[in-house]
Amino acid sequence: MEIAVVGAGIIGLTVAHRLAGEGHRVTLIAPAEEPHKASTGNAGTIAGYAVDPVGTPEVLRDLPRLLLNRDSPLAIHRPSALRLAPWLWRFARQAGPRGAEANRRVLARILGDADSRWRGLAFSLGAGGLLREAGALYAYDTVEGLNAAEAGMDRRRAHGVTVERLDASQLLALEPRLPPGRFGGGMLFPGTLWLSDPAAMLTRIEAALRVARIEARVTALTRRGAGWQVTHEEGAQEVEAVVLAAGAWSARLLKPLGVRVPLTAERGYHLEFDRVEKVARPLCPVRRGFYFTPMAGRLRAAGTVELGGIGAAPSPHRWDWLEEGVRSVFPDLPPPSRRWMGLRPSVPDSLPVVGLARKGLVCAFGHGHLGLTLAPWTAERVSAALAGGPLDEAVSPLRFNR
Ligand SMILES: Cc1cc2nc3c(=O)[nH]c(=O)nc-3n(C[C@H](O)[C@H](O)[C@H](O)COP(=O)(O)OP(=O)(O)OC[C@H]3O[C@@H](n4cnc5c(N)ncnc54)[C@H](O)[C@@H]3O)c2cc1C
Repeated sequence: MEIAVVGAGIIGLTVAHRLAGEGHRVTLIAPAEEPHKASTGNAGTIAGYAVDPVGTPEVLRDLPRLLLNRDSPLAIHRPSALRLAPWLWRFARQAGPRGAEANRRVLARILGDADSRWRGLAFSLGAGGLLREAGALYAYDTVEGLNAAEAGMDRRRAHGVTVERLDASQLLALEPRLPPGRFGGGMLFPGTLWLSDPAAMLTRIEAALRVARIEARVTALTRRGAGWQVTHEEGAQEVEAVVLAAGAWSARLLKPLGVRVPLTAERGYHLEFDRVEKVARPLCPVRRGFYFTPMAGRLRAAGTVELGGIGAAPSPHRWDWLEEGVRSVFPDLPPPSRRWMGLRPSVPDSLPVVGLARKGLVCAFGHGHLGLTLAPWTAERVSAALAGGPLDEAVSPLRFNR
């Protein structure tokens, strides 16, 4: 089949790699540079344990306080506030106990084999060296915070996630560079993976691709006979099928087709500290909402949420707030070597949009906090959607019009 894949983040690249490997003639279309694409600057965790949606009853209870405070782990990009209202309304409706549990159940199913899928992909590329395996940690400021997290961890355990509770001394034994007394304890997700350099993984996948490449932004998708015309800045392509994997930018290409998806950006930020070694595995100081991830030659602190603002400049105060959180754990760090902001493509129920929107038009976007983790799974599902097989139960909640 002649297929255009729109977008060259982790989703577009992984999909293109899989489809080309299956013998399809693939054209990958995306601009050469996209400084705010989420796939380069993320925290790098293969987070099969992250089965909680963003919207939960706990978050819902705190939502007004969180959103009104511009220094909170979940803030709003104020100039976008009005435009965000419908998205927030849907988010709130999904975040009750029943909605959150239904979304958690779907996430648990699609995240299930994330580690083994990633091993398969990385080793097939000869990029196994970019995978690290030592688990991931949540760290709690106080014992009370640790105790309060137990109920949520039990919910994860009920979905098959392995979690080990650590008291303060066990946490220090695992992470001896943490300041003694800084945390009351932690939760360990043992044996999980992370990438030591997400951008390097993109480069490895791109280098292995046997596809045509057009470096341009797609401006329109139009039905043409049995196939599609993909119009872009350099011209137009006629193809039999299109996979839309343009991250947070995807919805605007669907709107003229009458397909409306509640997609926004959750802007995330990172700071990097060159030649700094502080943690042996990704560690999230939970109250602050970011990860310290050990990466090749540097420490990355990545995370936090600022809702809205596709196309707007980064908010410098979010970097300041992130740095304050970083120094609340490691006060002796040097000044950051670089800083970055990227757009998580996010849907109110925290589930990606994967599957056919029209005949020959497959959606593969909206992965929110879990796009890296879910990339190999998504490529499998896109391939199945193009093959026209019956929808399996795990995928039907991911329809564009759910
Ligand atoms: C701070 C932060 C931390 C994160 N941590 C993790 C983590 O630890 N684990 C995890 O699993 N996930 C994590 N994520 C989420 C993950 O990074 C994203 O879900 C994922 O990268 C989304 O990939 P994508 O390919 O859909 O989008 P992107 O990476 O944003 O790529 C979109 C692509 O579409 C292209 N594009 C846009 N418009 C057009 C157009 N009109 N025509 C053609 N191409 C277009 C862009 O140029 C780009 O190539 C994190 C995200 C952030 C921001």
